[in-house]
Amino acid sequence: MGLTHRRDTRPVKVGNQIIGGKDQVIIQSMTTTKTHDIEATVKEIHRLEEAGCQVVRVACPDERAANAIPEIKARINIPLVVDIHFNYKLALKAIEGGADKIRINPGNIGKRDKVEAVVNAAKAKGIPIRIGVNAGSLERHILEKYGYPTADGMVESALHHIKILEDLDFYDIVVSLKASDVGLAIEAYEKAAAVMDYPLHLGITESGTLFAGSIKSAAGMGAILSKGIGNTMRISLSADPVEEVKVARELLKTFGLASNAATLISCPTCGRIEIDLISIANEVEDYISTIKAPIKVAVLGCAVNGPGEAREADIGIAGARGEGLLFRHGEIIRKVPEEIMVEELKKEVDKIAAEFLEQ
Ligand code: SF4
Repeated sequence: MGLTHRRDTRPVKVGNQIIGGKDQVIIQSMTTTKTHDIEATVKEIHRLEEAGCQVVRVACPDERAANAIPEIKARINIPLVVDIHFNYKLALKAIEGGADKIRINPGNIGKRDKVEAVVNAAKAKGIPIRIGVNAGSLERHILEKYGYPTADGMVESALHHIKILEDLDFYDIVVSLKASDVGLAIEAYEKAAAVMDYPLHLGITESGTLFAGSIKSAAGMGAILSKGIGNTMRISLSADPVEEVKVARELLKTFGLASNAATLISCPTCGRIEIDLISIANEVEDYISTIKAPIKVAVLGCAVNGPGEAREADIGIAGARGEGLLFRHGEIIRKVPEEIMVEELKKEVDKIAAEFLEQ
């Protein structure tokens, strides 16, 4: 069952994607290559696209990186976000170079004329700005007021940057309030959602390695998503960024919020098992990982409870002695010999995914 999500956020256009204003949560990741190394960066972005990344961010620490933006943009298919700290000239260059969104905190740009130059350039190109509040780098006046990073301080920081943009009549804003402390992040996003209608970009920073970081991110972002909050997200892991995309898709599928991913339902196995379920489940999971339709595929060890237990599956297979039973929505459609049952399941998956994508 899908989750009722907060729809009352302002929809913000980022290239061919809309962030906010709907149930879908857009998956983002960030490249780990040096942005000026165009070949390596484009190659990594193509791998991310293939894994289901919908918006990609690159760091822009210097002039060389900013100069690479036009070519990177020309060679990729998903919207490109350019991440800039402080330097308004790099922001202008990135916007000129075709960025679909920039991440910069207006309060850190400096004098008003510099802020205005960036805002006017973003307005002229129709691209949004993400304000990225981070618990670890709150402004001095906020830290002095609260003593240490708090959720209220993070929201106040976001509102401070938002006001600078709103005063310049700029409203295409996305806001993130990242913290590596899960409780703090949850509280900050909840408080932000209560006081602003800008779409929220979810993130738990410095969450750790693939295994531990995935669990920490899922715990934190799962809690936030379960309250209907969040319009785009990045899982931050000390790992290949493709893993970030895989974890994000898996998490969003849990809440029925991924529009571009197939879900595997597989049983835990028990003494009734009739097939080599674990290896089949892994093979099918791998097969459906690049399918861009939200279909459900089941792999079950036996037919005793099998099809009935996976009634919501669009297609599934249950083991029987020497054969497999293919079923749709709990109804058996045909029997196939064990040797070809996985191949038959894959064919059915392709058919259903194609039907779905044609709709
Ligand atoms: Fe056991 Fe069959 Fe249920 Fe799998 S589907 S857990 S094998 S009863």
